[in-house]
Amino acid sequence: MTERILIVDDIATNRIVLKVKLASAFYDTLQAATGAEAIAIARQARPDLILLEVELPDMDGAEVCAKLKNDPATRDIPVVMVTGRQDHARRIEALRAGAAEVFWKPVDDSLLLARLRSLIRARDSEAQGQFIDTASSVSAFDEAATGYTPPGHIAIVAPPRAAGRSLRDELVRTTADRFTLIDNTAAIGLSANGPVPDVFLVVADPGRPETTLRLLSDLRSRPATRHCAICLLVPRLAGSVAAIALDLGADDLIDDAAAPAEIALRLSAQMSRKRRADRLRHSVADGLRLAMTDPLTGLHNRRYALPKLEALDKAARANGRCYALMLLDLDRFKTINDSLGHAAGDAVLVEVAERLRANLRPGDIAARFGGEEFVIAAPDMSLASARAMAERIRHTIEEGPVLLADGRHVRVTLSIGLAMGGAPLPAPGIGDLIEAADRALLRAKTRGRNQVTIGRDAA
Ligand code: GH3
Ligand code: MG
Ligand code: MG
Repeated sequence: MTERILIVDDIATNRIVLKVKLASAFYDTLQAATGAEAIAIARQARPDLILLEVELPDMDGAEVCAKLKNDPATRDIPVVMVTGRQDHARRIEALRAGAAEVFWKPVDDSLLLARLRSLIRARDSEAQGQFIDTASSVSAFDEAATGYTPPGHIAIVAPPRAAGRSLRDELVRTTADRFTLIDNTAAIGLSANGPVPDVFLVVADPGRPETTLRLLSDLRSRPATRHCAICLLVPRLAGSVAAIALDLGADDLIDDAAAPAEIALRLSAQMSRKRRADRLRHSVADGLRLAMTDPLTGLHNRRYALPKLEALDKAARANGRCYALMLLDLDRFKTINDSLGHAAGDAVLVEVAERLRANLRPGDIAARFGGEEFVIAAPDMSLASARAMAERIRHTIEEGPVLLADGRHVRVTLSIGLAMGGAPLPAPGIGDLIEAADRALLRAKTRGRNQVTIGRDAA
């Protein structure tokens, strides 16, 4: 889909020049001549980005931006402001109003296009995040929901240490975040297991642009640092290097003549964005883990186990090997709950799961199938070895009572139904095999519990 950019400028020729430039970069454009018109079009057409001239006849650009940012319908659209007045204070005002970038004229074309690309890319990944987030119950985007946020960590990477030190001394007063000074080699050498900063503030080395660019692409691609925010402090006229830096994945470019207040503002915006992305990544990872594990025992759950069992069955048939399938059910578990309480019952389930795990080989599958029922599948098994494994498991549960949190002990046993699957049997599918194991389990129960019974249709 072609991205659409809303051009806001009261001078028609300026709009036309921009429209031509953007069309050559394959963007569609919309146009507005006043602040009011821009707000109306943004609300209705939801462009992917807004390119906003600061000096407008009806409103100041910062005011237009603030209005867009206060409206849920338009607040996620990145706003890039362009102004003829080279005024640091007004730039800070625009950034505070929520502008993603403020360019002073004349704007380097390649830099402008690189900035548009990077902002649209960032907006796409946030939008994707919000979509996943609304689908999950965890609110990764509600800053307030998490309450206190600890100070962040900003690493200044400056070739001459003295430059980094004076920068740090200026910035340290503006934020509660912690600063460290490191050089290129240390930044690239960071390990994913050690502390990694949230934000890198890279000071470009004007004499050696290729070193700076290599550092950026290294930071962006290495596992330890690829999720970090990266801000690059560059001399104003380093147009083409800056454009390449954005394409390599720098999140923000900061004019090296910018006031500490502006640098602080931009670092803080990147810190928040990085934290939102982190929370989202973690909630997605948690969601995946929860979708496949049973929270009480940490074993896989039934939903995860079934396709795994199918795959194991398929592989066994293809290799001409047999596998064992066991259903295990705790004996008289209800009486443990009834006499000692539900928490004691839970503790027993956790301990039993632990002992089951200790009896597995790599490649075996174990899952909590239901309340106090477990399933184990073990590939490459003969009936004799499967029976021995089941007996060993039965014995591990029977032999040692489970120690409860209050110091009491509880004896527990389980019954096991065993069925063999895979080749060379014209074996039934996994569903039939589970049923066979279940019938065997039922016989173990009726025969007195604490025993292993083998499915009649097995081997
Ligand atoms: P049997 O020997 O015939 O299997 O008897 P049983 O008491 O184990 O069988 P039944 O199926 O009647 O009872 C199972 C009990 O397991 C009932 C239920 O309350 C309990 N249960 C299921 N899930 C959990 C759980 O997560 N925690 C605890 N504490 N109890 C659970
Ligand atoms: Mg039971
Ligand atoms: Mg049961």
